[in-house]
Amino acid sequence: MILGIDVGGTAVKLGLMTREGQILSREEAPVNADGYATPVLTSVLRAAERFLQSRDTDPEGIAVSATGQVDDRQGIVIGTNGSIPGYEGTDFQSAFRSRFGVPVHVLNDANAAALGETFLGAGKGCRDVLMVTLGTGVGGGVVSGGRLVRGHRGIAGELGHFSIDRGGLPCPCGGRGCFERYASATALITMARDASPDDPVRDGRDFFARVRSGDGAMSGVLDRWLDGAALGLAGLIHIFNPEIVLIGGGISAQQELLITPLRKKVFGLLMPRFSEGLRLEAALLGNDAGMIGALKYWLDQEESK
Ligand SMILES: [Zn+2]
Repeated sequence: MILGIDVGGTAVKLGLMTREGQILSREEAPVNADGYATPVLTSVLRAAERFLQSRDTDPEGIAVSATGQVDDRQGIVIGTNGSIPGYEGTDFQSAFRSRFGVPVHVLNDANAAALGETFLGAGKGCRDVLMVTLGTGVGGGVVSGGRLVRGHRGIAGELGHFSIDRGGLPCPCGGRGCFERYASATALITMARDASPDDPVRDGRDFFARVRSGDGAMSGVLDRWLDGAALGLAGLIHIFNPEIVLIGGGISAQQELLITPLRKKVFGLLMPRFSEGLRLEAALLGNDAGMIGALKYWLDQEESK
């Protein structure tokens, strides 16, 4: 049994998994109950101890998916966008290894999701997968030739931070016109609020309900947002030549209003050879993708020892 741990900014998800990726038991615990006065690592360790004790289980390994920039060779968080105080420098690998005495492997959550979807999700059976999650920001991961593209320090796949407009919107990363500023769910809601200031949309659900009810202004917003998302995705497809592009994030559940028109716009921007055999689909695993990807990474690392 492998203990899967998915560390997010507000909560940690824990699961006991078989090597095949079946999650037999799961639990979730907060990591910011006291506004991060307790370090995230402490909260996660405590949650893991409780989880295993209550199930009387000794796992053979621990697979961690964690938010932030993670050096996946050392299992250390080496960068964040500053949103979690004291998180940078967290050494998940050493802490879990010394506490539980089993092999521990750690990787970034977006890369984990890409690997998870390739292992058991919508990209199952594919060797070249581009996964892009359109959420609060834009994250992602690239699987090329069946292997995760990790980069020199393990932080490759930062797919939200290349510019699609050098005179565009400033980005918290220090850049300008980053893809994330145009293609995230946050960007969509911001655009919708700007277009309808007297009756601001509440959230994604409200936005898509308005589009469905025939609100022309909101349909226009969606079309412009899709143009930005398609532009960035086309660039990524030209760089990586995937066989499947997976769209993750809550809004990817909008098949007719999002996935279908996005596919059409993306294909309209591609050089012909890049669209041959290419599919663009919604991801399948949802919130389990990170944990399942961490498991796959753990198996790969142990196998290559
Ligand atoms: Zn940026």
